Amino acid sequence: MENDAIQLRDVSRVHGTGDRAVTALDQVSLGFPQGTFTAVMGPSGSGKSTLLQCAAGLDRPTSGTVTIGGTELGGLSETRLTLLRRDRIGFVFQAFNLLPALTAEQNVALPLRLAGRRPAKAEVREVLARVGLSERARHRPARLSGGQQQRVALARALITRPDVLFGDEPTGALDSRTGREVLTLLRAMVDTDRQTVVMVTHDPVAASYADRVVFLADGRLNGELSGASAPDIAAHMTTLEAAPC
Ligand code: ADP
Ligand code: MG
Repeated sequence: MENDAIQLRDVSRVHGTGDRAVTALDQVSLGFPQGTFTAVMGPSGSGKSTLLQCAAGLDRPTSGTVTIGGTELGGLSETRLTLLRRDRIGFVFQAFNLLPALTAEQNVALPLRLAGRRPAKAEVREVLARVGLSERARHRPARLSGGQQQRVALARALITRPDVLFGDEPTGALDSRTGREVLTLLRAMVDTDRQTVVMVTHDPVAASYADRVVFLADGRLNGELSGASAPDIAAHMTTLEAAPC
């Protein structure tokens, strides 16, 4: 659809060749509408991470097309793809991937420095305030809790004002209370700033913060729920996990 921040059309991703070929994604067509929060769920090995990596331009599909903000990625050189990713995509992972020697504000400023920009202090402080960490700007990661570290990683992903923020199990390493804080923050970004968020999760409660949950099984889309409760999401997951391989 026209208001999709990202579109995948017939995307397949095969790893390896011959006898060893593994189809991680099989003809997936899916759009992520701007200003919405999508959760991606499915059993282990169902292709969730591959889907995210292809949608974010971190991995190239074997066939099919990915379009980000109207630009089809297939035709781009590695350099152009890197630039487009830097401008339009934010990514957070289960492991926060902060640089331990840098303070929170230095970690947050890093993407701008890598883009050759001298970050304005106000800009860094503003995004740290958005994740509720104004008081921790000078702290190194070791002095922050897991939830605080993930919020620094979120601020770092947001400093470039990405069209889409991706999270691959962003609450997977957090206890449930801290995880909920991060989810509430993601939800607020969608509601307040019309940020587009796409998140892989194992947790039906985490997925219930999303507007829509899409399910994968064996690399294929296998159902979708909108505005679903955690029990409804858990019930759908049970049907996928019981399915024969
Ligand atoms: P999920 O995130 O849902 O656990 P993945 O996207 O990581 O699933 O993996 C989907 C399938 O692709 C799995 O069978 C996995 O073993 C395989 N796969 C993923 N990455 C690679 C790779 N680099 N080389 C070979 N196989 C891979
Ligand atoms: Mg994964």
